[in-house]
Amino acid sequence: MLDVALKLLQKIEDNGYVAYIVGGFVRDYILKMPSSDIDICTNATPSEIRFLFSHSCLPNETYGSITVVFKNIRFEITTFRRELSYLNNRKPVKFEYIDNLLEDLKRRDFTINAICMDKEGNIIDLLNGKEDLKRREICTIGDSYHKFTEDSLRILRAVRFATILNFRLSDDIKQSIRNTKYLVRNLSYYRKKEELNKIFASVNVRYGIKLLLELELDQELELPNLKKIKNFDDLIGIWSQLEVDSLYPFMKNEKEIMGQIRKVLKLDNLDCNVLYHYGLYVNSIAASMKNIDKKIVTQKYNALPIKSRNEIVMNGEDISKLLNKKPGLFLKEILTDIENQIVVGSLKNDKDSLTEYILQHYR
Ligand code: ATP
Ligand code: MG
Repeated sequence: MLDVALKLLQKIEDNGYVAYIVGGFVRDYILKMPSSDIDICTNATPSEIRFLFSHSCLPNETYGSITVVFKNIRFEITTFRRELSYLNNRKPVKFEYIDNLLEDLKRRDFTINAICMDKEGNIIDLLNGKEDLKRREICTIGDSYHKFTEDSLRILRAVRFATILNFRLSDDIKQSIRNTKYLVRNLSYYRKKEELNKIFASVNVRYGIKLLLELELDQELELPNLKKIKNFDDLIGIWSQLEVDSLYPFMKNEKEIMGQIRKVLKLDNLDCNVLYHYGLYVNSIAASMKNIDKKIVTQKYNALPIKSRNEIVMNGEDISKLLNKKPGLFLKEILTDIENQIVVGSLKNDKDSLTEYILQHYR
């Protein structure tokens, strides 16, 4: 990934511009952590970048940022800029392109996100980000109160980076969050959920939640249950405990699963019927919330005679033939009955046993 990125920088520079890798990739590279995408900053304008990479630019240009696919890797290329005004404490609505790396770095959020790498792989650290990486502390670039009022998403980004990297938040950041946290309410639920997902999916999720509570962000995020979370194993499990299914955006199937988890919490996760009807995933999450060993749940689940109705060796058609009746509603009743008997182990799932049972009870 890095080799390809350096080649891309070279190509931009061969055309008379300057370009650097910046942001998450350089931060993660120094920390020897894996990184998912590479951000590049340059003094070439978006149209100049489009001209250089005409065959490989994706059409989605947002705020003068262009996505280029170079040797199968996606790069986010952003022109050096100064941001002039923000809308609703969030979106930079007015900016101008500039020809100055330092100025571009100053508009960014945290010192650790403003370290660059040049085309030879040298680290360029104009705002002492490396020092903060070493001290394991998140610090804003310049005045934190100003940074957070400009764009309140940075409040959640601060907690997200602290969580994922297991870093402290500077005292200054903590103080400013206390004074600006009300602005978090204005962020879209979609954005808030994106940041929260990254916090909840981190191995350091407990620390992340502790920070959110300490900074009283649970109130601004409208998550009254945050202090009551019992299980941190699974993202959707955490959301199910927060009970904000209709406030935050979720897909239909996610809502279904969250509802099921809450239902199953009140039931016995080692009961065959519960295991069968709600499946292993929902039961495992509910079980670990109740401190029941997940392994036992998995063993019990694997020992179920069937996992779904279509594993029953006789289907509706076989039953109609057996009873010599045209298919109808009665089949549903019989199938549900034998399904329940098989699941609890009172009826064997083989043709002879089922035939005998059906003839005895339904002829
Ligand atoms: P990751 O990609 O690992 O989530 P990242 O630091 O690369 O983390 P991105 O959202 O990809 O974050 O943004 C790239 C860079 O752009 C950041 O490192 C930071 O320098 C800058 N940036 C992103 N969002 C903001 C923001 N809201 N305010 C100021 N600077 C930002
Ligand atoms: Mg990034």
